[in-house]
Amino acid sequence: MILGQPLAQWRAQYPLLDELIALRETSWFNPAVAPAAEALADVGLSAADVADARARLERFAPYLARVFPQTAASGGIIESDVVPLPQMQALLREEADDEIGALWLKRDSHLPISGSIKARGGIYEVLKHAEDLALAAGLLGRDDDYACLDSDAMRAFFSGYQVAVGSTGNLGLSIGIISARLGFQATVHMSADARQWKKDKLRAHGVTVVEYASDYSVAVEQGRRQAEADPRCHFVDDENSRHLFLGYAVAGERLRQQLAAANVVVDAEHPLFVYLPCGVGGGPGGVAFGLKLAFGDAVHCLFAEPTHSPCMLLGVHTGRHEELAVQDFGIDNRTAADGLAVGRPSGFVGRAMQRLIDGYYTVSDEQMFRYLALMEQTEGQRLEPSALAGMPGVLRVLGERQGYRQRMGLTPQRMARATHLVWATGGSMVPQAEMDGYLARGRKLLQGT
Ligand SMILES: *Cc1c(COP(=O)(O)O)cnc(C)c1O
Repeated sequence: MILGQPLAQWRAQYPLLDELIALRETSWFNPAVAPAAEALADVGLSAADVADARARLERFAPYLARVFPQTAASGGIIESDVVPLPQMQALLREEADDEIGALWLKRDSHLPISGSIKARGGIYEVLKHAEDLALAAGLLGRDDDYACLDSDAMRAFFSGYQVAVGSTGNLGLSIGIISARLGFQATVHMSADARQWKKDKLRAHGVTVVEYASDYSVAVEQGRRQAEADPRCHFVDDENSRHLFLGYAVAGERLRQQLAAANVVVDAEHPLFVYLPCGVGGGPGGVAFGLKLAFGDAVHCLFAEPTHSPCMLLGVHTGRHEELAVQDFGIDNRTAADGLAVGRPSGFVGRAMQRLIDGYYTVSDEQMFRYLALMEQTEGQRLEPSALAGMPGVLRVLGERQGYRQRMGLTPQRMARATHLVWATGGSMVPQAEMDGYLARGRKLLQGT
């Protein structure tokens, strides 16, 4: 029985479940997608909230430029570049046997400080918390130069407070590094699948790492419990945090400016497709919210999940969101894709984005590794497995037979003028030996095909 209903009844009601349970790669195009002007209101956050987050990141820029020299070149703004992928574009065009338009990569894999998409939301939330505390204590004014936070006095102040988070790795890295740098006592509760190098890196930054033999949900629960027992402890709630979400959302307007600077046109006649790897949902959800604010109905967002962890697809498709975990259906939540090994989705994101996300699809680990090796061979880009989940999205859109393109007015002419953007969510900090192992696995799979 699952939520009081036998499995057979679930399967009869939702035939897609058969695909998920069999761990087959599958795609589902959302029949409930609605115009942005209407559906953005579902989120409960506004363009003004995103502008507020952007302004906060600008206030902190002088501090970040000072304490993280790798951000000095961008004036303390944590942002990644977008690059075209001509070779991969040619390969996918061949595979699609159709015009696909242009293929681009958003390199959050190379974001400074923590080398993943988590350098957006995770760092933003800790900065927001630090600002709130310092403002309330009268130690900081909004018009001050925030570089003043880099002082022994401020670190001593923050050391009276704790920051805790549960993580499969990358969120922990972002939260841990920025928290420790500000002076907070930081604790990261890590799930069993977290990589050793991430734990080592955090400990080297002075972060307390607590390890669990179980998966992400347990690590999160422990972190939450620690924080509840201590009023001076701030728990970063990956599943529900609006601050994390807003930190990610800032990416939308910045991408609009980057594409405009690269002379990439995005409008109804030139649609933009963005493929976002999804774990609990905050990262892709926040980014998609920002994209919808920036591009309106011209942008089409799709979420990509591992075949072994399709939690968001399961939650949105059934409308039961965080009430369901993939394990309820015997799906094991085991994948090499760090950050995507999440069995239960964020109910906040699933509901907020129910009418904003065009589609969801699953990708096998083997496919992620194949694309990992192909990306390195053709474009020289080294990414971690999760970051490749977006790559087959183009083929899913072009191969769909669910009436999606017709419903959305995506004619062959418009598709031929489309821009497809794969959001590369991590990779630049993976140690060489680990990356060599990823590449070897991917190359072996390529030879086998
Ligand atoms: C966390 C993460 C994601 C997905 O973000 P969620 O907020 O968990 O959905 C994707 N890729 C990588 C590499 C990540 O670390």
